[in-house]
Amino acid sequence: MSHTITVLSGDGIGPEVMVEALNVLDAVSEKFSFKISRSEHLVGGAALDATDNETPLPQDTIEACEKADAILFGSVGGPKWENLPPDIQPERGALLPLRKHFGLFANLRPGSCLPALTHASPVKNELIPNGFDVLCVRELTGGIYFGDPKGREERDGEIVAFDTMVYKKSEIENILHVAFKAAMGRDKRLTSVDKANVLATSVLWRETANEVAKQYPEVTMDHLYVDNAAMQLVKRPDSFDVIVTENLFGDILSDEMAMISGSLGMLPSASLGKVKDSGLYFGMYEPSGGSAPDIAGQGIANPIAQILSISMLLRYSLGETAAADAIDSAVQKVIDSGLRTGDIFTGADGETKANTAVITAAIVANL
Ligand code: NAD
Repeated sequence: MSHTITVLSGDGIGPEVMVEALNVLDAVSEKFSFKISRSEHLVGGAALDATDNETPLPQDTIEACEKADAILFGSVGGPKWENLPPDIQPERGALLPLRKHFGLFANLRPGSCLPALTHASPVKNELIPNGFDVLCVRELTGGIYFGDPKGREERDGEIVAFDTMVYKKSEIENILHVAFKAAMGRDKRLTSVDKANVLATSVLWRETANEVAKQYPEVTMDHLYVDNAAMQLVKRPDSFDVIVTENLFGDILSDEMAMISGSLGMLPSASLGKVKDSGLYFGMYEPSGGSAPDIAGQGIANPIAQILSISMLLRYSLGETAAADAIDSAVQKVIDSGLRTGDIFTGADGETKANTAVITAAIVANL
């Protein structure tokens, strides 16, 4: 098998973790006998520097992404570009247009904490003796962030502001299929999160979820109101497998999940677009964190979020499930061995502090 990916390393720690993560991709493609053809292109601040501040997303970058099966993204942004006009700032001018251009409607954010890292989670350790592994599937292109009308006007002599939460049934069906398929590849449990006791969109969401569920009889689905889901995530995160929810709720819950996981440096993410004829998704894969300018250039960033982004890319866009499983298991073995970058190092017995390159080499050795 041969696959094509476009690599956009970006800024800050992006290029330094990417160069290491690509060693894992090379090793795993050799081990599992598939070919990856990849091209690297400019994005974010690096693209602004190269184009005399014209754009953080050059046309040739977009065209390279269009030709690929998936995009492997690093991170963008940093103090150097913070005072540019908002529309060409790295995140707003590159990430958001990429999501829009490719119709990336499903955001997958794992919130996981390996058993050996529960001390890094703010959740009481006795509540999560075996860690946890939740996947949040968030609808990314609909709901209150994009609904019309939105604005502000004067009514009865007073200023009012308003937003509109709106969902088409087809949008809800699309995201639910992504979530059910993800659950099929995991523990086959799905929690649909809504606010059906108050919101009309949530009533449609719940009805649609119950309908779509009939197509996935192997998956057990339950429903939770979003306020209860927020509480249960900090009380019993290990009781969840996959959570699916709309845009605003997902924005908040996925950040709560990142927080209880302990370190941004461990968390990948995926934004999925249309399903291809193969049944796989076009997608963009990136660490959940940003460009970490505070530690950039020192070779000490945790490469695991970028490496697990490759694992998600292999699973959801290339169908290389065995290779993805091998990466996940190698990461777990390296963490179990006690190797830690600074973000997850506590100095406890059995821990050894290591830099980006050492952690990556250990993961490659454990594939
Ligand atoms: P950040 O995620 O870059 O950093 C927050 C903290 O987490 C920092 O202390 C950082 O050192 C640490 N951290 C993040 N990733 C790490 C890793 N892999 N290993 C070790 N530690 C890690 O968030 P921020 O400081 O709010 O933003 C910095 C820049 O990144 C800003 O310019 C922001 O706009 C940009 N940003 C980009 C993205 C993206 O590219 N998707 C996302 C968020 C922020």
